[in-house]
Amino acid sequence: MTVATLSEVLLPAKENNYAVAGLVVLGWEDVRSYVEVAEELQVPVIIQAGPGCRQHTPIPILGKMFRYLAEKSTSPVVCHIDHGYSEEECQMGIDNGFTSVMFDGSKLSLQENIDKTASIVELGHKAGVSVEGEIGFVGYSEGKKSLSTDPEEAKKFAHETKCDAMAISVGNTHLQLNKNTNIDINDILNIQALCDIPLVLHGSSGIDYDLRRKIAQQTNVCKFNIGTELRKTFGDSLRTSINKSPDIYDRNQLLNMTIDDIKKSTRTVLENISKF
Ligand SMILES: [Zn+2]
Repeated sequence: MTVATLSEVLLPAKENNYAVAGLVVLGWEDVRSYVEVAEELQVPVIIQAGPGCRQHTPIPILGKMFRYLAEKSTSPVVCHIDHGYSEEECQMGIDNGFTSVMFDGSKLSLQENIDKTASIVELGHKAGVSVEGEIGFVGYSEGKKSLSTDPEEAKKFAHETKCDAMAISVGNTHLQLNKNTNIDINDILNIQALCDIPLVLHGSSGIDYDLRRKIAQQTNVCKFNIGTELRKTFGDSLRTSINKSPDIYDRNQLLNMTIDDIKKSTRTVLENISKF
């Protein structure tokens, strides 16, 4: 079985200048496609259950589904909780087979974020689970604006929380439909000069493939979170299938028609950051 923790896939990626995709899961069709493509390409993948996913499907069910896929995969698969906002939520992930949790304290004060993240790191490490934290604030397209990561604060955060990976804000924004995010690689280098831990970029759907590759090769960013790009593929594909087949009413038949498209988009994502 190749169930992996976040550290197990990110440390070699950081060392060898590639990155691993953190792919946002909403259901069975997308998650099985992600794992199948990772296996085809023989690269690691992080499957992640974010707040939207957890609102739709309870964590115990997601845990079973993620572990089922991870355990039979021949490529390393990390089962990750994305944007946990409380200790209870992170603990529930740990109790249900997730091998990695993200605690998002980015809306708290620096000290509160450090204290809460540190206590979740302790919980996680006791259970053999990796923990990702966030410093600075990655905003949302049409929503709250970002707050850039301050390198000195990042250093303090990494040092005091002992988290395994650190999400940073350097121009990246969640929910981007267009790939026009501008990131200055020097902003990332300034952060990593002060703290040598795997870095994460949320909102990577907005970063074009060339820039993702460049960042993966030249910096310690070794996890790109990608949701919108793949959710868009699924939605567009489902709509086309429904319009093309007005006589089909069976939900599984309709959903299965999206799989080829999801796999194709997943292949593009994985090939551009994890294989050079
Ligand atoms: Zn995020």
